[in-house]
Amino acid sequence: MVKVIMLGPPGAGKGTYATRMAPKLGIPTISTGDLLRAARDDPEIGGIIRKYQDSGELVPDEIVINALKKRLEKDDAKNGFILDGFPRTIEQAKALEGITNINVVINLDVPEEIIIKRLSSRRICPKCGTIYNLLYLKPKVDEICDKCGTKLIQRDDDKPEAIKERLKIYHEKTEPLIDFYKEKGILMTVTTDRIDVPPEEQVDKIMSILKEKKLI
Ligand code: ADP
Ligand code: ZN
Repeated sequence: MVKVIMLGPPGAGKGTYATRMAPKLGIPTISTGDLLRAARDDPEIGGIIRKYQDSGELVPDEIVINALKKRLEKDDAKNGFILDGFPRTIEQAKALEGITNINVVINLDVPEEIIIKRLSSRRICPKCGTIYNLLYLKPKVDEICDKCGTKLIQRDDDKPEAIKERLKIYHEKTEPLIDFYKEKGILMTVTTDRIDVPPEEQVDKIMSILKEKKLI
């Protein structure tokens, strides 16, 4: 059983790597960004989620922690999981300690210029959720989803103003988690130094770390 956190700035590749590792490990990827996006139409909390997500700000801890707690109670999370996008604040990390034990934190270290280029060229399929990148993960036909033929869109929070805001928030609120987990002795850093590193190369690195640490 392995419980992994993917840590890193937006656009570092957390989701891209997590969704490729999950089938190899036989455990689910749990993305709080996806959990929150799925609740955007909720009559009670949908309005709050939309307001924060669209501006690139963090959704209030209470809402995120509740959503995560519920998700972790599902059967498929009982044998381990990969967290993508959670925790993003010290508050959330402390709440997580009260819910479950984490084995390893994979810290994705990516230079800011790469992040900005990647995020602004990211496109998603509004229907099936597949992620593309106009620079290196292109759809076969321009701007059209390979899987379902839908026209791709740019997320509101991938637009330049929101990207700046998300990076600022990452430095203020999320980066302190690096030291938090370093002190606990479970932080492993994986560095990216060029924009077009094939995801499989990074996934292999992460899988070797899990093996070295005898977690798989
Ligand atoms: P990315 O990793 O590219 O920023 P995500 O899908 O993980 O994209 O997150 C999108 C948005 O969802 C965030 O900007 C934030 O508004 C919200 N969100 C996701 N996870 C959290 C979290 N753990 N705490 C607070 N807000 C979150
Ligand atoms: Zn699609």
